[in-house]
Amino acid sequence: MNRTDEWYDVERVTDRSWRIAEGTIFGSYLIEGDDRALLIDAGIGIGDLRGMAAELTDLPVTLLLSHAHWDHVGNASQFDEVLADGREHENGRVEVSYIGYHPSEWIADWQSAGREFPDEFDPDGYEIGPVTGIETVAPDEEIDLGGVTVELLPVPGHSPGQLAVLDREQGVLYGGDVFHRNHGLYVHFEGCSVESYVDTFDRLIGLWDAGAFDTVYISHERPLSGEDLSLLETFRDGLDAVLADDLEYEQVDDGTGTPARRYEIAGYPVLTKPDIV
Ligand SMILES: [Zn+2]
Repeated sequence: MNRTDEWYDVERVTDRSWRIAEGTIFGSYLIEGDDRALLIDAGIGIGDLRGMAAELTDLPVTLLLSHAHWDHVGNASQFDEVLADGREHENGRVEVSYIGYHPSEWIADWQSAGREFPDEFDPDGYEIGPVTGIETVAPDEEIDLGGVTVELLPVPGHSPGQLAVLDREQGVLYGGDVFHRNHGLYVHFEGCSVESYVDTFDRLIGLWDAGAFDTVYISHERPLSGEDLSLLETFRDGLDAVLADDLEYEQVDDGTGTPARRYEIAGYPVLTKPDIV
């Protein structure tokens, strides 16, 4: 298969945006204005993401990294203009750390499921990063794409400088890893903070109540819309209970040797650091 349209799963999500998924679960989003396009996240770096984006839009593409975890920065080096919050890089550089699900495990799972890679891809030589040349973008900044203005929203918790992108006109929030259902909440890595996460959910609930968005597109699962977004309140209340020490937990490791507390909020797994919350 080729490294563009045969490798990526592309789905139109609004009349000016697409989801571009790599390996079915690693989602990036491309938003097109009149003058330029904004790509949110860069997948796991197996396909040719820049080539794929060029098949969807003729406009210059600015890449915004929602945060710097390995599964969001894979193809970042293909892009000339790369933006991220200042807490996600050091002097423009990210040394990619393989937290959580290691790429080699994902490769092995993909192969054992009988799935194929693009013809040019060599699984044995696979590595990601480092990423360099990242420019700092301020949280709460607006990005003008020409006829379309999107707002950046700081959504720390899972990562200290994670940014979501709000398209108020479309009523859509592109949330990165801000939450997931089946994957739950990962709050056990370095830089994660339950307290920040509560503030993030409070802020998102306020925006949702005010009608700023009614759909949230996330990286690794299907989007949430309408009343299903009451999950924001469920997670906020659950994390409040974690902070108040009102919820039971198990001491586990996250499957990769990283110790964690495992809580459940409304049946969804939530991992925090083993000692502090
Ligand atoms: Zn992440």
